Amino acid sequence: MSIADIHAIYLATEGEGINLGIPQVFVRFQGCSIGCVNCDSMETWEFDSGRPMLFSQVIDEISRVGQNGLIKRVSFTGGDPLHPKHRVALTTLIDKLKAKGYWINIEAAGTVIVDEVFDKLDFISFDIKTPSTGVRFNPRLLNKMMDQYSDKFQLKAVVDNRQDFDFISKLYDQFSSKNVNWCITPGFMKGETLPKEKILQIMDWNIADGGKFRVICQQHKFLFGADRTNV
Ligand code: SF4
Repeated sequence: MSIADIHAIYLATEGEGINLGIPQVFVRFQGCSIGCVNCDSMETWEFDSGRPMLFSQVIDEISRVGQNGLIKRVSFTGGDPLHPKHRVALTTLIDKLKAKGYWINIEAAGTVIVDEVFDKLDFISFDIKTPSTGVRFNPRLLNKMMDQYSDKFQLKAVVDNRQDFDFISKLYDQFSSKNVNWCITPGFMKGETLPKEKILQIMDWNIADGGKFRVICQQHKFLFGADRTNV
């Protein structure tokens, strides 16, 4: 079936992680069954309620919003772009975009590694689900990521409190010999104003812990507010 269930396609400047500040076209799939309690895009959870688009329409829309093909970077996100329901659409779109010379990233929830997708990508932003998300993280996935994809991924964890920080710090210690980008995203929930004290606290914890992480805040939330979507 050549239909993708799309929540939104839009041009924005990357607001988090090590590619912060780079303009790209975001393609958000509709549908996620992971259920993070601190999810900031719950409107993308329900399946089959997005905009059904032909693959050719998705490609045309990516080109149109990307300054008529000038912006050649795409980030697949969600929802959960790696959910089995999206796989055919995702792999087909990646193939078509690669043939047109696009650089492609995925925002992976960190619950699964899909080799047939990851092998094709230029970059993988792989989440580590911390305790405050309410989702159990499988550390064995990190071994596989580091063995197979060490040249093209970052680890990104939302840290909302000390328990989250200790969790990620302990994980880092298990894998510290590996040369990988570890990023902390301080929690910045919908409805919140800038959580400056929390961010500074996390930076202090990181310093006291030997500076293992890059603490990178969500720039788009600073600029547009935490409730604005697709920015
Ligand atoms: S994986 Fe992403 S979209 Fe799904 S619940 Fe978690 S934060 Fe929300």
